[in-house]
Amino acid sequence: MAVMITDICINCAACIDECPVEAIVDEDENPTGEEIYYVYPDKCVECIGYHDVPACAEACPTEGCIVWAECVEGVPCREDIPEEWRKEHRPVIED
Ligand code: SF4
Ligand code: SF4
Repeated sequence: MAVMITDICINCAACIDECPVEAIVDEDENPTGEEIYYVYPDKCVECIGYHDVPACAEACPTEGCIVWAECVEGVPCREDIPEEWRKEHRPVIED
């Protein structure tokens, strides 16, 4: 995975247009069937080459809804994020 949206999501839509690679879909398009927004892990490039930090997480008004997740082979992945943060699904932006 890359970054992941958790069930804290309030379906506010603030993130979707911020994604430079159209990796985010809304609750109607979520392939898991959950009523929350979803990040396609094979599309998300963690905003590498676009922004210093993931733009979706910066736009998100919740506390910690968007979290780090495991890297996907062949897809850009921030190397400065410790593996344990990804395993723990630590929020991308922490207050
Ligand atoms: S981290 Fe960047 S590329 Fe990944 S879903 Fe968020 S906005 Fe899109
Ligand atoms: S900005 Fe955050 S709360 Fe709003 S839809 Fe995206 S992930 Fe959900």
